Amino acid sequence: MVEFSPRQRSQGQFLTCPFDRQDLDPVRDVFPDTATERKILTLAIRCPREGCEWTGELRNKEEHLTQCGTCPNNCGHSVSRETVLTHIRDECPLAVVSCPYTRVGCDTVIQRQTVEPHLQNGLNLHLNLACLKLNETIVELEETKRQLQTTRLQLDRTKEELDKTTFIWKISGFSGIFTQAIA
Ligand SMILES: [Zn+2]
Ligand SMILES: [Zn+2]
Ligand SMILES: [Zn+2]
Repeated sequence: MVEFSPRQRSQGQFLTCPFDRQDLDPVRDVFPDTATERKILTLAIRCPREGCEWTGELRNKEEHLTQCGTCPNNCGHSVSRETVLTHIRDECPLAVVSCPYTRVGCDTVIQRQTVEPHLQNGLNLHLNLACLKLNETIVELEETKRQLQTTRLQLDRTKEELDKTTFIWKISGFSGIFTQAIA
């Protein structure tokens, strides 16, 4: 490939061959070297951004740079490959998240940036859901208490039975020894 650098002259721009300094005719002497261009484009390169481990062909550099360091949700935050997951999990305003009232029955799934307005607008809905859930929970708690009570009574009865059994066993053991002793 012929490398060239443009040189200013009074009438306009001229090209000079770097080897013999002769003026070149831009039409006759200069042509695109597609084979070399292709070779250059397949050169392996690394991403110039610090912290980015990407390597690839020069031809894909531009495409990579449009994604490198930016959140895949296109929220505008710059993130590295290492922090992208925590960014999306904890802070990305465009990440899709569940309503914080999901456990009381709100199944709304929205972008994080609209959670605040959803909470404002859904104040009554969330309060009603929370009230229903609270009542349900109280009923369940009472039921659990009752079951615990029953289990405790059964345990006490089993203990009594066990004590009786042990007592009888002790006596019969004793009586055996006593019988032997007096024989
Ligand atoms: Zn990169
Ligand atoms: Zn983001
Ligand atoms: Zn909600």
